[in-house]
Amino acid sequence: MSDDFKGSFTQQEPIPEEGIAAALKVMRHGRLHRYNVVEGEVSETALLEEEFAAFTGAQYCLAVASGGYAMGCALRALGVSAGDKVLTNAFTLAPVPGAIASVGAQSVFVEVTDALTIDLDDLREKITSSGARVLMLSHMRGHICDMDALMAICDAADVQVIEDCAHTMGAAWNGVPSGRHGVIGCYSTQTYKHMNSGEGGFLISDDADVMARAVILSGSYMLYDRHRAAPLVEAFERVKYDTPNVSGRMDNLRAAILRPQLKALPQQCAKWNALYRAVEGGLENTPGLTLIARPAAEQFVASSFQFLLKGWAASGVQEVLRRCAKRGVELKWFGADEPAAFTSRYDHWRYAAPTPLPQTDAVLAGLVDMRLPLTFTIADAEHIARIIRAEVSAVFQASA
Ligand SMILES: *Cc1c(COP(=O)(O)O)cnc(C)c1O
Repeated sequence: MSDDFKGSFTQQEPIPEEGIAAALKVMRHGRLHRYNVVEGEVSETALLEEEFAAFTGAQYCLAVASGGYAMGCALRALGVSAGDKVLTNAFTLAPVPGAIASVGAQSVFVEVTDALTIDLDDLREKITSSGARVLMLSHMRGHICDMDALMAICDAADVQVIEDCAHTMGAAWNGVPSGRHGVIGCYSTQTYKHMNSGEGGFLISDDADVMARAVILSGSYMLYDRHRAAPLVEAFERVKYDTPNVSGRMDNLRAAILRPQLKALPQQCAKWNALYRAVEGGLENTPGLTLIARPAAEQFVASSFQFLLKGWAASGVQEVLRRCAKRGVELKWFGADEPAAFTSRYDHWRYAAPTPLPQTDAVLAGLVDMRLPLTFTIADAEHIARIIRAEVSAVFQASA
């Protein structure tokens, strides 16, 4: 009898029936554009923004076409322009340096710790050496740094913080939702994130001028009074002649399928964390394998799982990946020489002219990553952990 795993690591759940019904309604009336409303109608997009603002506790929310668009829009709304330097995590995904490059700015990469969060000592140094006034903080794979310490450093140095919450929608640090520490929080509703509209994203903020600029940037023309989670008209009057239109709106079809998902998000987050704890429990005390410590102040949402094979030779890590793949367990490695699929590393982003980061290189050389889609059961998570444990142990013992 084979003990191979048969599940799919890329299969998400279906859209809730309520979302399908709402999408059909939008398609039947045909008013997909967010500003295409009849007398007295409020668009699905405007309602979604209002509900997401309430969910995070933010004053303002803007729904947009993607998470990457949200980040580029956030940089523009803060006035970042060509030649400016923007601090960001060396351990993140390609859309983050991509958003910085999209405004002609220069990424300044900050080292990662083996908790997989930004290194605050290196951040202090890089703030001083670069003179950058903005940090694009990526909560990569849902790992949240000490946000109280980070904000103290950035506030003292007058550095504005944009949070990339693509992996922390629904998460918090010390009870404060992720995305509510910095001046702007950015989210993605792309298929592999915490809500699924294929493509999509949000920006949240409490700053009226920043949000007025973001709304106009997103392509509101002069229809900004059709928003419900936006600043008062006066804020738009102040910025409307000086803010370009860089279209990237969300549409009513996507908003319609997201609204029921937002209602279900807290239960979904609990399901992700139950899967995570099942994998974590199954991997405890595996020789050669280091689990990532999760601080008590971090209320995470674990839609993926990471572990470290610290100090392993590349050949050993590759052997573990090969053996696990053969048994149906799809792992990704951040130490590979070449970028593959969604996985790439700071030194692959040559357009961003990265300089070497030895600490990050050491962490990423042993970093293994795995998706945890909600189509998995707890039994699946336990099964996956058994396979990883067996294969890591076998390769580790053979190399000892
Ligand atoms: C997915 C992702 C984004 C961008 O989201 P898109 O909606 O795909 O543009 C940004 N940051 C991180 C860390 C991501 O994983």
